[in-house]
Amino acid sequence: SGSPLPPLPKTIKIPEPEANSSYFKVVVLGAPGVGKSTLTHQFMTSEYIAFDTSTEQSEREYTVSVLLNGEESTMEFLDAENEVDLHEVKADAYMVVFSIAHRDTFDTAVDLLAELLLDIGTDRATILVGNKADLVRKRKVKTEEALDAALQYDAKYTETSAALNHNVDELLVGMLNQIRFKLNPSLP
Ligand code: GDP
Ligand code: MG
Repeated sequence: SGSPLPPLPKTIKIPEPEANSSYFKVVVLGAPGVGKSTLTHQFMTSEYIAFDTSTEQSEREYTVSVLLNGEESTMEFLDAENEVDLHEVKADAYMVVFSIAHRDTFDTAVDLLAELLLDIGTDRATILVGNKADLVRKRKVKTEEALDAALQYDAKYTETSAALNHNVDELLVGMLNQIRFKLNPSLP
């Protein structure tokens, strides 16, 4: 849907991945058109990326290696396009995206959060993302409202503009921190 994405960045640095580097799978959920593909694509341009591990980048699957706090993690993003059966996808984190300018996409996101809580429980990192934050004058979902929904379903909330690459790095890092926290809650 929408305009074509810009080309993926060329490989940055290519050291071999650490043998003990951790591997996390992130499923990206949300209504069509909210910016899932654009966001996932923007992750590939993050300054936190240690190197680009992938040899085949399709539109729906992205793998990156992220260096955070001196620790390397490989993150695989599955752009689910809403078709995914949550029971069948084993993921370390769920990113539920809506557009702050489209009320119905928020309703879909809240339904997904409820479904996740029911099916998966609270031991996986779940992040609610209000994308298209650049569309200030078209905003239909208040920040507080989204924060409340996130709180209710044991998720984190953040707002991004994938189009302007605003807060996207922070989302990537926040997600990784949340994954690490869920795996080991006693970490600082
Ligand atoms: P998907 O269906 O969820 O994968 O959504 P896409 O990533 O294909 O984006 C749908 C449309 O929204 C495209 O035209 C994008 O350029 C546009 N879009 C994505 N993110 C943003 C954003 O943060 N702000 C604005 N204004 N448009 C965006
Ligand atoms: Mg898409």
